[in-house]
Amino acid sequence: MDKPALRIPLEDIPPEGLKLEFEEGPELLADCFPLKRALVARVFLKKQGIDVKAKGRVRTTVELTCDRCLERFELEIDEEFEVEFRPLASLPLREETQLSREDLEVIFYDGEAVPVDELVREQVILAVPYKKLCREDCRGLCPRCGKNLNQGPCGCEIRKESPFAVLRTLLQKSGG
Ligand SMILES: [Zn+2]
Ligand SMILES: [Zn+2]
Repeated sequence: MDKPALRIPLEDIPPEGLKLEFEEGPELLADCFPLKRALVARVFLKKQGIDVKAKGRVRTTVELTCDRCLERFELEIDEEFEVEFRPLASLPLREETQLSREDLEVIFYDGEAVPVDELVREQVILAVPYKKLCREDCRGLCPRCGKNLNQGPCGCEIRKESPFAVLRTLLQKSGG
């Protein structure tokens, strides 16, 4: 086992639960985004029959690329989570009970050891917004010359075809 600390065998979780605190390097999310500082996680595992409840907090800083201006920026992540590990083998039996439970995030595991590395990895990925903006009002790039408009206006003619401008023209035309 090269990463014994992050795959926790069920028999290592005592009835009163198991508290983990660990740090992970950027390898954990290497295929997603670079981490600017170590990922620090705190996880409390508690068995519930064949399921394992996990509660905790994950903190790190990721480097992202802005969707509008394409500049790199850093995003701080500090997420609390509550997840349930369920054995993969129980999947077909669960359909009904699953509906009756409150929506809880579920991670399936092999029934022997819970992948805590996968859990924290997922929390970081979920914490990154779908739309990645360096700032709320990022002006993006000029579609004509490609200049980053956050650094000031470019020399191009200003002709912004915003949907509001179009709406305004329509309203004027209709005599409103
Ligand atoms: Zn931006
Ligand atoms: Zn321009």
